[in-house]
Amino acid sequence: MTNKYMYFIANWKMFGGLNTLNSLHKVVKFLKNFKKNRFVKLVYCPPNTLIRPMTKKLKDSRIEVGAQNCHESDTYGAFTGFVNSKMLKNVGANYVIIGHSENRLNGENDKLINHKIKNALKSGLKVIFCIGETLSQKRKKNTKKILNRQIKIGLKNIRNNNVIIAYEPVWAIGSGLIPKLEELSDIINYIKNLTKKYKVLYGGSVNTKNILELRSINNIDGFLIGGASQDSKKFIDIIKKTYI
Ligand code: PEP
Repeated sequence: MTNKYMYFIANWKMFGGLNTLNSLHKVVKFLKNFKKNRFVKLVYCPPNTLIRPMTKKLKDSRIEVGAQNCHESDTYGAFTGFVNSKMLKNVGANYVIIGHSENRLNGENDKLINHKIKNALKSGLKVIFCIGETLSQKRKKNTKKILNRQIKIGLKNIRNNNVIIAYEPVWAIGSGLIPKLEELSDIINYIKNLTKKYKVLYGGSVNTKNILELRSINNIDGFLIGGASQDSKKFIDIIKKTYI
């Protein structure tokens, strides 16, 4: 995997203030000097409050900025507390995460997610579409059935190169657990066969230790990283180790 084009997407969740942006220069400097930098695609998805200041900080780098969710409407409206994809694009986001399990748990269903993806693409954003099974679905051996449904409905009537799929088993997020490597490789293949054209990332407790195993899975196109991406040193370490 040493010379493979890979995505590293940082999901900061609801963490970070203006002072958190101070450590970004370390990542910018690292990427500039990293021998394999042409293989690295780096995207930060901070809370919406940091999108604009972050795009300013990163303006002379190859690092892009995304959002963590958006409202499904593509017009302005009376939706207190929300922003739509056009508004995110307007403040400098180029990507948006849609379908994250933390939002599915808050009631977002596959149909709504499909609607969001369509409008986000229309607004010119690239979409990081999250799918994944819960622990009880895994125990009942329903993983592929669940992924099939999430993909069939979530991507209904969508064929667009600007979609990237992130396979994130719900039980792996923030738990320190990752899937067995053979199982993960099999699931990534399953998703690729089902969707034909999309890149597939893995997300769920990626850290500076397990990256040494995860990077050996040849069909993975990159990683969506939560906790470990909030610490620039750890994030850099993960990227470096991917290319050992
Ligand atoms: C996530 O929330 O998308 C994620 C992958 O989190 P973590 O890396 O902390 O498990």
